[in-house]
Amino acid sequence: MNYSKRQQERTLVVIKPDGVQRSLIGEIIGRFEKLGLKLTAMKMCLLTEEFVEKHYTLDPEWRRITGEKRIKAAKEKGEKLETEDPLEITAVILEKLKKYMTSGPVIAMVWQGVHATELVRKMVGGTEPRSSDVGTIRGDYVLDSYILADSDGRAVRNLIHASGTAEESEAEIKHWFKPEEIVNYRLIAEQILYDVNLDGLLE
Ligand code: ADP
Ligand code: MG
Repeated sequence: MNYSKRQQERTLVVIKPDGVQRSLIGEIIGRFEKLGLKLTAMKMCLLTEEFVEKHYTLDPEWRRITGEKRIKAAKEKGEKLETEDPLEITAVILEKLKKYMTSGPVIAMVWQGVHATELVRKMVGGTEPRSSDVGTIRGDYVLDSYILADSDGRAVRNLIHASGTAEESEAEIKHWFKPEEIVNYRLIAEQILYDVNLDGLLE
């Protein structure tokens, strides 16, 4: 892929119901804006359980990966799980996720720019807020953990969803937005971010 094409890389970000209720919409949007990404679509919506299940299972590997991630975290912390089968673990997580994601309004957005998926993931941080890095959105603004969520029988509350790979981004954007909901426009700041020569700054 040539680099000017890379400036058009897009990624899906969803502020989950807890992010909306914690009054973090502006803070989260501000972080991506300040990075230099361009917001090209945004809407508030209420989700159905069917929509949530489809979203999380667009990637056929998601069930296995998410189960394995939980097993790895349990090993590191010396926690005992009810099963060591990643698919069984994810089946339970998915049911909890459906409740979590349908509990209130969410904000869905498309952000565009070079390395958009990778940079958004970096800023969002790891899945479990307890262990996500300081400076990330999940690390800075919420304190939930796998062990607490497990003991309360609910999904981990981590404020935000972000696509995992560029390929996943495109599939998720298609699931969430009609093409006409995504706006194609020029952001003046892109000139300073991407222009080769920075011509025209001086009078
Ligand atoms: P991420 O959102 O970091 O990409 P996953 O795709 O693995 O994470 O999982 C989707 C969402 O499911 C997480 O953001 C979190 O809300 C919830 N979740 C994941 N793993 C667990 C778990 N072991 N227990 C409870 N909830 C979980
Ligand atoms: Mg994921």
